[in-house]
Amino acid sequence: MNAIILSIGDELVLGQTVDTNSAWLSARLASLGFAVLQHTTVPDDQPAIESAIRRAVTDCDLLLINGGLGPTPDDLTRQAVAVALNVPLELNADWLSRLEQFFRRRGRQMPEMNRIQAMIPRGATLLENHAGTAPGIAATYQSCRIFVMPGVPKEMKRMFDESVVPRLPIDTRHGVILSRTLHTFGLGESNIAEKLGPLMDRDRNPSVGTTVSGGVVSLRIDARFETADRARQELDRATELCQAALGNLIYGRDEETLQEVVARQLIEKNLTITVAESCTGGLLAKMLTDVPGSSSYFQRGWITYTDAAKSELLGVDPDLLKTDGPYSDPVAAAMAVGALHRSRADFALSITGIAGPDGGTGDTPVGTVWIALAHAQGAAARKFNFPGDREMIRDRAAKTALTLLRMRLLNAAVPF
Ligand code: AMP
Ligand code: MG
Repeated sequence: MNAIILSIGDELVLGQTVDTNSAWLSARLASLGFAVLQHTTVPDDQPAIESAIRRAVTDCDLLLINGGLGPTPDDLTRQAVAVALNVPLELNADWLSRLEQFFRRRGRQMPEMNRIQAMIPRGATLLENHAGTAPGIAATYQSCRIFVMPGVPKEMKRMFDESVVPRLPIDTRHGVILSRTLHTFGLGESNIAEKLGPLMDRDRNPSVGTTVSGGVVSLRIDARFETADRARQELDRATELCQAALGNLIYGRDEETLQEVVARQLIEKNLTITVAESCTGGLLAKMLTDVPGSSSYFQRGWITYTDAAKSELLGVDPDLLKTDGPYSDPVAAAMAVGALHRSRADFALSITGIAGPDGGTGDTPVGTVWIALAHAQGAAARKFNFPGDREMIRDRAAKTALTLLRMRLLNAAVPF
């Protein structure tokens, strides 16, 4: 069955608010087996909303509208839906008393303006809103089912799951689509595709595709089958095949972040980590403390930007800094060892390098970064070359450091 999502709001077309509702609804609809034909966005302009609805109802079986249900004069979706369906708006007495009660409980009188939120097109059904004052609307126009929801993401999501999904025209002939995302870090998209080989063939079901964001190459697996049970089984099987092809390059799935995974490893093993950062300026410490409960594995760290700071705070030998320079294996290792001893943590990560845009030379161009990992058995430093601008180099350096630690905690060799 075909669906169209219509988002309404001046702020959306002006680029002030990103339309996250359409993305969220699309993912939900795909998992329910709908083919989403279009995302349409129009401003808070009644004729524009009316014509978008009139066009959509002839093209799809399901039209999801969100936004413009507020009480103010710029919220015109309700009126536009009524005009497009050729019916008048009628007062829903039950919702009006709910609204009056809502305001009374807060010690206020309902502003006259809010009365419009109790109006729905004749013949339509009102959809409960547990999180706000604007109810939704369910209506039918010819063969198209129409659902109208508030724009506030929290209200829209709850209304969709609780009141829209049970009313959806489900056509089981086309089955359901279940999806999963697996995340990798360390290799580029084409290297990952090479390793996946035939798993990425276009005509496979489940299908596997890749996307890249912030150096993280993610695999999206979509399983389209007649029943949810079968789709789930096939999704699990495809996940195992991807895992067999990529091994521990895969660090997590769906919403999981690299730092969450490393945090979990540290907590499970009851181990602690410290950091000594130069060019990343605290980014690694920030990532390690992004995770709630991080004080159990992270107690302190150092940002040692200059040579003097590296010597004074971490005890890096000034002669070493002179002979090998601040960007070198021995200095990176000495930073990590210094941090390890001073913190009494189980592991120390250090990062030193050239984030640019200036400071690169022939031998060590911008993007050359040394990362070291120290622990009770010793320290090892490694040189990396990261592409991109200052922000990207720092981000990749911190993620690489996290990955070195992740591999060490897995007792695995770094696969890149
Ligand atoms: P509305 O129901 O149109 O008054 O929307 C209320 C608020 O919800 C807006 O001010 C936005 O902050 C937010 N919002 C509306 N539409 C969307 C959307 N499509 N995606 C994300 N946020 C939205
Ligand atoms: Mg609005």
